[in-house]
Amino acid sequence: MKIKFWGTRGSIPVPGKHTIDYGGNTPCVEFTSESNKTIILDGGSGLRECGNHLIFNNIKPPYNVFLSHYHWDHIQGIPFFAPLYINDSEINFYGFSINEMSIHNFLSHQMTWHNFPIELDRVKAKIKFIDILPEKEYLIDDIKLEVLLSNHSSPTLSYKIKNGDTCIVYMTDNELDVSFDSDEELFNNKEIFLNNNKKLVEFCKGCDYLIHDSMYNAELYLQKKGWGHSSNSALAMFGILAEVKNLVLYHYNPDDKDKNIDEMFSNTKEIIKLNNSEMNCIASKDGLEIII
Ligand SMILES: [Zn+2]
Ligand SMILES: [Zn+2]
Repeated sequence: MKIKFWGTRGSIPVPGKHTIDYGGNTPCVEFTSESNKTIILDGGSGLRECGNHLIFNNIKPPYNVFLSHYHWDHIQGIPFFAPLYINDSEINFYGFSINEMSIHNFLSHQMTWHNFPIELDRVKAKIKFIDILPEKEYLIDDIKLEVLLSNHSSPTLSYKIKNGDTCIVYMTDNELDVSFDSDEELFNNKEIFLNNNKKLVEFCKGCDYLIHDSMYNAELYLQKKGWGHSSNSALAMFGILAEVKNLVLYHYNPDDKDKNIDEMFSNTKEIIKLNNSEMNCIASKDGLEIII
C-alpha cells in the first residue's frame, strides 16, 4: 500500500518562504492499494495537484473521493480537480448528509455561478454523490473503509482504511477530550484520558498508521480549547494508549512556520520516549510518500 500526502495544512493554504519544507496545501491524501486502486481522502487545495498527477500518470477513473466534512479547507480544491473537466471521466464523491443537506448540496454550493465560473452540475465528468453513514463499512475494490464520527465543531468523519494486512486511520479535525490544563496532569491521569476518548481509542486500536490532526502545541491548545482540534501532546498520549505503530502528525496550524513544526515534531518524539513507548512518529508534509 502507498500513502501520498498532497496537502497537510489546516484552515487555509499558506504558500511562502516559511512553509517550504512542510508545504502549504490544505488536506488531501491519496491511498493506493496492493492491486493499484486509488482512493482520495479530503479535497483541500492539495487535490488540485493530485488530480493533475492522476491524469499525467494515466490512472484510470472512477476516482473515489471521501470527505471528512465540508469545512472550506477540506473541499476548496474540488473546483480545481482536473478530472472534473474531462469527458468520460467518472468521479464518486462520498460524504454525509447533515440536517437534510446532502453531499451534493454542500459541494454544489461552493460552485454556484457567483462563486465559480462553472457549476458543479455542468462539468464534463460523470459524477456520483454518495451519502455515507458513521459506523458503517464500505468496500472500494480491495479497500475496506470503516467510518466513525469524531469530535469537531461540525460533524466530521474519521476513516479506517484496510487493505491486505495494513490498517490506516485517517482522523483529522478531531479534538481529543482533554480534561487537564497541563501535559504533566495529562500524563499522570492516563486512565481518565483513556475513558474520555474510549470510542476513538477502540477505533484506532493497534493500527499501523494513524494520520491525525496536530494543530496546536500544548500551550496554544489552552487558548483554543473547544475549537475542534488537538495538541501534539494529547495526540502522542492517544497514540500510545491506542497502541498505534506509526503516528503521523497532520493538519498543521497555518501560522506555524517550518521551524515550529520541527519543534513540535521533536517534542512529540520526546513525549513518546518519556512514556517508554516504541511508537514511531512521522511528521507529514506535502509530497511525502509512505510505502508500506
Ligand atoms: Zn480542517
Ligand atoms: Zn474542520
